[in-house]
Amino acid sequence: MRKKIVAGNWKMNKTFAEGVELAREVNDYVRYKEGGEGVLVVLGTPFIHLAKVAHNITETSLMVAAQNCATEKAGAYTGEVSADMIASTGAKCVILGHSERRSYYGETSPILVKKVAQALDSKLEIIFCVGEVLEEREAEKHFEVVKQQLTDGLFNLTPEQFAHVVIAYEPVWAIGTGKTATPAQAQEMHAFIRSVVAEKYGQTVANETSILYGGSCNPGNADAIFSNPDVDGGLIGGASLKAADFFEIIKARA
Ligand code: PGA
Repeated sequence: MRKKIVAGNWKMNKTFAEGVELAREVNDYVRYKEGGEGVLVVLGTPFIHLAKVAHNITETSLMVAAQNCATEKAGAYTGEVSADMIASTGAKCVILGHSERRSYYGETSPILVKKVAQALDSKLEIIFCVGEVLEEREAEKHFEVVKQQLTDGLFNLTPEQFAHVVIAYEPVWAIGTGKTATPAQAQEMHAFIRSVVAEKYGQTVANETSILYGGSCNPGNADAIFSNPDVDGGLIGGASLKAADFFEIIKARA
């Protein structure tokens, strides 16, 4: 059975103290089971929080994730953080291929292939993001674009490696815009992604792959989005920064 997952992506938000406090609140929420049973909760924090948050977390259904990793293992790469270094903090996961990384930092599929390889080598789980921009949807190319991103970024993996990947579908036009995909649009794309995974790795692997929706997910729309059979959870940006909103979304997924 695939996992239900609610992952927060803090992006470039929260000072050290603020982040540690937010993680404490989430840990307490998960610990006292106030309605998040059966949901794996992930906190995608900036690098500076990883070690402290990973150390403070007491719950097995809570995991800390980095938002990026380097293409190389170690060496003279000023400003970079390797997958090995992330794993050494106690973080168990990394978000890769986020549309902000793709568009602002020029992350292409060949770059992502290297990052995915580094993450797997360091035994990190991967949340791999795909999604089309508005013009691509309007030109009805969204299925094609997403299939290409999956093929180019992930399909060099063996089935054993692919088992460590969670896919996040994030239509770029819905990220931080307040404009969500309709539940029907989300389901349609998630079912498509699952079929593409099935074509490559077989139906059993596809059925076990968690596919998250991301893009202006909030307490008001989470229920409707998560009620779709192929939506296994969410990757939450803005609404993961406020504990109360994040808890509502976790509850909606349970
Ligand atoms: P958002 O971001 O929830 O603020 O739209 C989602 C994401 O980019 O992961």
